[in-house]
Amino acid sequence: MTFVSAEEICARVDGDFGRIVKMLSDKVALRSVSAEGIAGDHMARSARFVADQLAEVGVDATVVQSRNPDGSPGAWEVVGSRIVDAKAPTVLLYAHHDVQPVPDAGAWETDPFVAVARDGRLYGRGTADDGGGIAIHSGALRALEDTLGVNVKVFVEGEEEMGSPSFIPFIESHRAEFASDVIVVADSGNWSADIPSLTTSLRGNTSVDVRVTVLEHPVHSGQFGGPILDANTLACMLIASMYDLDGQLSIPGLDKQEPVGGLDRDLDEATVRADSSVVDSYRLAGTGSLASRMWTKPSATIIGIDAHPVSGSFNVIADTTRLRLSIRTAPDQDPRQAQKAVSDFLVAHAPRGAEVDVTPLDNGRGWSMDPRAQATKDALESMRESFGVPPINKGEGGSIPFIPELQRIFPHAQVLVTGPEDPQSNAHSPNESISLSALRNNVVAEALLLDRLAPRR
Ligand SMILES: [Zn+2]
Repeated sequence: MTFVSAEEICARVDGDFGRIVKMLSDKVALRSVSAEGIAGDHMARSARFVADQLAEVGVDATVVQSRNPDGSPGAWEVVGSRIVDAKAPTVLLYAHHDVQPVPDAGAWETDPFVAVARDGRLYGRGTADDGGGIAIHSGALRALEDTLGVNVKVFVEGEEEMGSPSFIPFIESHRAEFASDVIVVADSGNWSADIPSLTTSLRGNTSVDVRVTVLEHPVHSGQFGGPILDANTLACMLIASMYDLDGQLSIPGLDKQEPVGGLDRDLDEATVRADSSVVDSYRLAGTGSLASRMWTKPSATIIGIDAHPVSGSFNVIADTTRLRLSIRTAPDQDPRQAQKAVSDFLVAHAPRGAEVDVTPLDNGRGWSMDPRAQATKDALESMRESFGVPPINKGEGGSIPFIPELQRIFPHAQVLVTGPEDPQSNAHSPNESISLSALRNNVVAEALLLDRLAPRR
């Protein structure tokens, strides 16, 4: 049961949709590229615009400049609230107003900073990521304006695309302002433009630098080659020892999880092959469901290697080499534990007694949703009602670093990851776009959710 009928909410959203699209279009024109300076005037303007738009839908919103960890002026954040009843639940609505840069405007079919509607989609940088999130919150609040039954707090961040350097200190210093029962993070997306999703889990990450040393200095490969293997070969042997015969990471203490958080559908191999552009002859690594291999089991990638370039190479045995390993960890494993497991393994498996030194680098936590929480059920039901089809939840192989941090700071809040994107959105790429029908349905779904979360009177 809801306070406002679903039909009424749909009618209100449809009546408001022109405003929502205009707001999103105006937002695109603001060019809020945080990579051009998070503390810049263009970012302050963008934050001001968002605060004004929120004020129009009844939120008491202000712009606050955060501080970077080194004390310098940081991002322009939008913080707001609308308190309707001290006894009602509180919902924190999150989005970010900064956008990805456009290094390749020539690859766009339209001007990236002029929103253009075409074939049911709105094109432009930030239409989906994450102007779409702002549009969803704005539309949902407008639809419920006089009948809102929950307290709403809003945080629209200004530096998400830069990895949120001041996010943790900012949230921690505004803990009371953000304290909430449910947190809706509208910065992910749906299974498709027609099928809604909650994001069930995010992998964590950790990285290490590995140095393999076999000689004090390079020597002639004709003279010493044979008993002495070069550092590059030894490093390859070391990395290969991390995998079993199926190509799956097999390191004691590095957790493998099966899908968590209420994931209900596996990925289709043909789609994964097409989306990734893998060569036809390649056999996918690992065993078990593709969903587990991409979303909940660990993976390791060599993202940098210091070796002599092929061009100009000559006949020496390399004395030492260094590589950087980036590891995605199971959603619920502490990444520090994963980092220690990998480091211990590499040192213990030093090929032929070569020296292996491991330098630990950054860690980021993963996250998984509680599928049994009432708010999760309410969100799924609202999506089903709005889109007219059952949601298909999905995991996320990458990380959204601030979500686990939010969950850590507010351990009792139920975090729901929704969002404006679909597989055609090209977030972070040329020709970014949002499906207008999905935007409308996302707005309706969020309004229905806020209505369901309100206490029954
Ligand atoms: Zn985003």
